[in-house]
Amino acid sequence: MHVPFLNLKAAYHEIKSEFDAAYRRVMESGWYILGEELSAFEEEFARYCGVKHCVGVGNGLEALHLVLRAWGIGAGDEVIVPANTYIATWLAVTYAGARPVPVEPDEKTYNLDPEKVEAAINNKTKAIIAVHLYGQPADMDAIVNVAKHYNLKVLEDAAQAQGAVYKGRYTGSLGDAAGFSFYPGKNLGAYGDAGAVTTNDPMLAEKVRCLRNYGSKVKYINEYQGCNSRLDELQAAFLRVKLTHLDEWNRRRRSLAEVYLHNLQDQDLDLPYIPSWAEPVWHLFVVRSRSRNELQKSLKNNNIDTLIHYPIPPHLSGAYTALGFKTGDFPITEQLANEVLSLPMGPHQDVDMTHFVIHAISDYAKGGSTIGLHQLS
Ligand SMILES: *Cc1c(COP(=O)(O)O)cnc(C)c1O
Repeated sequence: MHVPFLNLKAAYHEIKSEFDAAYRRVMESGWYILGEELSAFEEEFARYCGVKHCVGVGNGLEALHLVLRAWGIGAGDEVIVPANTYIATWLAVTYAGARPVPVEPDEKTYNLDPEKVEAAINNKTKAIIAVHLYGQPADMDAIVNVAKHYNLKVLEDAAQAQGAVYKGRYTGSLGDAAGFSFYPGKNLGAYGDAGAVTTNDPMLAEKVRCLRNYGSKVKYINEYQGCNSRLDELQAAFLRVKLTHLDEWNRRRRSLAEVYLHNLQDQDLDLPYIPSWAEPVWHLFVVRSRSRNELQKSLKNNNIDTLIHYPIPPHLSGAYTALGFKTGDFPITEQLANEVLSLPMGPHQDVDMTHFVIHAISDYAKGGSTIGLHQLS
C-alpha cells in the first residue's frame, strides 16, 4: 500500500461534474477577471466565516500583506508574529516594509503564547498576527485583549484554518481582519493560487479591494500605489463548488484525527493537544518525536509519505539573516522544528490507510522498522 501525504486528485474526481459545470459556466461567460463568480464567492465566504466583507486576492501572502498596507503599516513599524509559523507570515510584514518581532509558541498548542506577546510590545508595535497553525485556532480572546490594551490591530493568518471554530465562532471573524490562502493543498483549495481577506470593517474592505486592483476603484483613476492581486473567475467558481463541501471534508479529517489520536496514545510520541475551546480542522496532523528523522525514514520504507512543517524556522532561514537572529534565540520553536512530523491526512484518506500508518508507527517503536528495509534490499 502507498499512503500519499494528501490526495488532491481524489477531491477532483469526487465532484468532477460540479467542477466541469463551473468551468463551462465561466468559459461561456466571456468574462474572466473581477466578475460575477468572484462577487458571489466573496459573499458566500463572508457568510460562511460570519463576517460582513470578503475580498478575493491573488494568494494568502498578499491577503496578509494588503491588510497591513491598508492599515498604513510600513517602514519603522513593528508587527508581532509567531516564531513558529510558515515563513509567509513574516514575509507579509517585511514586504510591507515593517519589522517582524517573533514570539515563542505555547508548548502544548504550538500557537502564539498570549502571555509572551505583551513582553514584545513597544511604542513601534502596530499589530499582532496570530496564526491558526495546522488548523488549530489560536487563543484569540487572550490575544485580542492584549491588543486592545495597547491599541494594536489583530490580523489572523487563517491560511491553514478554513472552517476552524474558536468558542463557537469561525476563524476569519476573530480579529480586526484575516488573511486566507486557497493554495491547492489547503483545506479549501483552488486549482492554482488564490486568497482572500475577511473583515467586519467596511473601510478596510474597500481599501484592500482598491489595492488589489492597481489602487483603483474606478478604471484608470488610481488613488493608491496598488498592485495586481486578483482572484480570477475560474478559481472563484471552483472555490464556490468546494465551499459547499468544506464542512463535510473537514468532518472526514476530524474522524481520521480521532482514529490517529485514539490509536497512537501508547506510542512514544507527543500527540496534538486540543484546548477545550477549539474545534480544529486538521489541515495537518502533527506528532512530535525525539527520533523524528528515524521515524520518518521508517515510514518512508513502508511507502508512507510524511512532511515536516517546518524544518527551518523563519528566524534561522537565509531570508532573514539581516535580522541578526541566531540558534538558541527561540528554543521552543527550534525544538519543534527538530521534532515535528506531519502524518498523512486528508478528506480522501480511508480508514485502512490510516491504520496502515498507525501499524507502521507501532512497528517502528517495537524496532520492527526493518520490514520496510528488507523490501528495499
Ligand atoms: C499557505 C500559507 C500562507 C501563504 O499562502 P499562499 O497562498 O501560499 O501565499 C501564509 N501563512 C500560512 C500559515 C500558510 O500556511
